[in-house]
Amino acid sequence: MAQSATKPATAADVARFVAAAEKESLDFSVDNARVAWINATYITDDTDALAAQYGAKGTEMAVRFALDAARYQTVAGVSSELQRKLTILRTGITLPAPTTAGAATELNTIATRLQSAYGKGRGTLGGKEINGSDIEDEMGKTHTPAEYQEMWTSWHDRVGKLMKADFVREVEIANAGAKELGFPDVGAMWRSAYDMPPDDFAALTEKIWQEVKPLYDSLHCYTRTKLNEKYGDAVQAKTGPIRADLLGNMWAQEWGNIYPLVAPPGSGDLGYDITELLKAKNYDAVKMVKAGEAFDSSLGFAPLPATFWDRSQIVKPRDREVVCHASAWDVDNKDDLRIKMCTKVNGDDFTTIHHELGHNYYQRAYNGQDALYLNGANDGFHEAIGDFVALSITPQYLVDIGLLDKAKVPSADKDIGLLLRQAMDKVAFLPFGLLIDRWRWNVFDGSIKPADYNTAWTEMRLRYQGIAPPSERGPDAFDPGAKYHVPGNVPYTRYFLARVLQFQFYQAACKLSGWKGPLHRCSFYGNKAVGEKLNAMLTLGASKPWPDALQQFTGSREMSGKALLAYFAPLKGWLDQQNKGKVCGW
Ligand SMILES: [Zn+2]
Repeated sequence: MAQSATKPATAADVARFVAAAEKESLDFSVDNARVAWINATYITDDTDALAAQYGAKGTEMAVRFALDAARYQTVAGVSSELQRKLTILRTGITLPAPTTAGAATELNTIATRLQSAYGKGRGTLGGKEINGSDIEDEMGKTHTPAEYQEMWTSWHDRVGKLMKADFVREVEIANAGAKELGFPDVGAMWRSAYDMPPDDFAALTEKIWQEVKPLYDSLHCYTRTKLNEKYGDAVQAKTGPIRADLLGNMWAQEWGNIYPLVAPPGSGDLGYDITELLKAKNYDAVKMVKAGEAFDSSLGFAPLPATFWDRSQIVKPRDREVVCHASAWDVDNKDDLRIKMCTKVNGDDFTTIHHELGHNYYQRAYNGQDALYLNGANDGFHEAIGDFVALSITPQYLVDIGLLDKAKVPSADKDIGLLLRQAMDKVAFLPFGLLIDRWRWNVFDGSIKPADYNTAWTEMRLRYQGIAPPSERGPDAFDPGAKYHVPGNVPYTRYFLARVLQFQFYQAACKLSGWKGPLHRCSFYGNKAVGEKLNAMLTLGASKPWPDALQQFTGSREMSGKALLAYFAPLKGWLDQQNKGKVCGW
């Protein structure tokens, strides 16, 4: 509670406030997780209503804590530990409403309307309406350029356009909320959650981007050539930007779906397919999860609790609606770990399992921390742990666990194929991972005005990704709305950070395990020393600034693109050979 003007708050008041906030949020989080779990695994009108009720309760609580924390932040004599907790409370809400009468309701109504508009969004293919997840799938399959263009344009026109007015108003209200919490605007508030001044964080992301940009440029140039060879000059020119709808993904964010089109002759065929290996060895969904667990056990982590196997949703139930999007849970913040998936026996889901279990092992490792520290060192860390483990699914690892025959391990001349397949997803993603929030930061600070929302978006897509829309965008277009995380209000820089961090973790683990070969062939499976050091970082949760956590495992305090560059170094040389004589850039 805020103090009256006559009696200034003391450090002891702050300590009492923080302790009470931690207890209340911890108690709430357990009930909230149970409600959210039953809603996600058994969707009915009743569980929807309960989830909405708990969501509103959680928002109300987070706003109350943030406002009180903002008032307490200036109290003299508060320990750095408590200051850290106040900052976590103050930045604990993504979209803050101001205290003006009616503002919270209006903001909540708009946010719900935007998310529901996205969920119900439809595009068309061959003139027929198709829903969001189907159109996403179809963009990854083989179609004519005209069909790609139809899907891209219909999705952006039908889903994005209608959101513009609501989004403009949402930005106004949330900015007023951020100001009440002591931030210049919402973007600055988001950037304040990284243990450094907001401007320094923006500069750090720019530094990382400049490190990895030459690799992206080489991949862009090579891919553009292949698209030109496939479609001809009229569809994809030899120079300039790539047409956004030809890259196998609605947002051109990951290009792995068009790997067959860019695969190098000879080395492009890797000689094995994980889906086929799993089927040949009679893997089912549970056996796949057991294999994921076995990886972490091999590093010295304790096995998953018995309740994990009783309570997880590993396969899609036959008789009810569920949310299939994969996620990892720690319902009681202690040991009630679960995953929720609709696992299919294929290579993608095998990777996803390793990713989700990474979240679970992180959650369990930090379960001894105070309530406000039950989190990753920053929001990029949590996503990176799972991905870093999944990088270890190398051919040799598949041999170690008995999936691949030793004689079938691809020889070194297949390295380019292995690396290019990875790069089409992980390198292609980098500028996209950066620009979503670059655009939003400028929207929130007012340097992009509502009248310019779409032209600025298209300009940034061109500047960072080197892509252009397949058709002219009208003055009323609102293309950012066609990407879930914009109407869904999910900050996006975390995914950019995760892409970079996972390679830093991977390089550190391989160095620790004494690996001498090319980085992308390293698996640290079975290495207890790696497990011990990894656990030391995970155990910290959010209790220390993220550079401390990073140093604990990698020895460095700096987030950097250098490890990613080391991983892809052979590919970079090869791409530059292929691009010789071509005019790269756009
Ligand atoms: Zn994840």
